[in-house]
Amino acid sequence: HAKANGRGRVEHFSDTLADAIADRARLENDLRDAVDNDDFALVFQPQICARTGSVVGAEALLRWRHPDGLRMPGNFIGRAEETGLIVEIGQWVTGTVAQTIARWADAGIGQRLAVNISARQIDHVSFFRSLRQALRDADAPASLLELEITENLAMTCSDDVLAAIAALRDDGASVAIDDFGTGYSNLARLRRLPVDRIKLDHSMIRNVADTAEARTIAQAVIALIHGIGCTVVAEGIENEAEADVLRVIGCDILQGYAIGEPMAEAEFIDWMREGNRRLIA
Ligand code: C2E
Ligand code: MG
Ligand code: MG
Ligand code: MG
Repeated sequence: HAKANGRGRVEHFSDTLADAIADRARLENDLRDAVDNDDFALVFQPQICARTGSVVGAEALLRWRHPDGLRMPGNFIGRAEETGLIVEIGQWVTGTVAQTIARWADAGIGQRLAVNISARQIDHVSFFRSLRQALRDADAPASLLELEITENLAMTCSDDVLAAIAALRDDGASVAIDDFGTGYSNLARLRRLPVDRIKLDHSMIRNVADTAEARTIAQAVIALIHGIGCTVVAEGIENEAEADVLRVIGCDILQGYAIGEPMAEAEFIDWMREGNRRLIA
């Protein structure tokens, strides 16, 4: 590329900027088409009890079935939030989660299923109405639904949103705070939130098996979370050493590649039926 002279550099920069703008426009168009065509899928990642190894639930994770292959949320959720398309995508997600809960309940599986909700969705007035409608339409018990909201959302959402979350919880749904340890928590607020579980972000647990400091911090955070009456989920567990330490320092629920990767529904059901207990001797 023409980097030697200034003019060349400017052109190069302009091309790159134009490309970036075109990429964003294309992504938005493709996303709109995907919404129109329901080109999405959910995969399911198991969560196990740290003590017994039994499966206690799963997290539903979104995938985009793009002509070029499956796309990960990191490549499109941000743009979906900026454009507001997340509202419609989120409706597809909650509708599909409700149907999945009902199907699993009928099959005698009865796993709790967690769904990720972003700030832009929950701020939308219709969110809680359409979520309840989705549960009714699918005939899915609210008790098998868990909402995951990020720490940042939990710290900044309005009292109206908190009241709506509390009402859903009164109906039996549970609530988890996601990505805990990546934001700024106010302990007084945390204690008053209508929350059942707190999910330690993988950055909080990454070195627990390697350094005494990381382990001490994780142990203190777990004790603190228990102190406010919540259970602790560790996410992003990648090896048995991490799982072992987390179990010893009191973590209640484990999730991560070392436990089970996100799987398509049929694969997830097989995984559970096989009673996979990779970490338990
Ligand atoms: P999250 O809710 O914190 O989900 C956990 C992410 O960690 C998932 O990435 C999961 O595949 C990945 N993960 C699981 N085990 C491991 C592990 O052992 N190591 C590492 N390094 N990662 C692991 P994924 O599926 O790419 O999703 C990324 C994020 O996108 C999610 O983070 C969530 O914030 C968002 N997201 C996913 N599905 C939805 C959805 O349906 N709606 C909304 N609004 N957001 C979603
Ligand atoms: Mg279209
Ligand atoms: Mg999550
Ligand atoms: Mg997370």
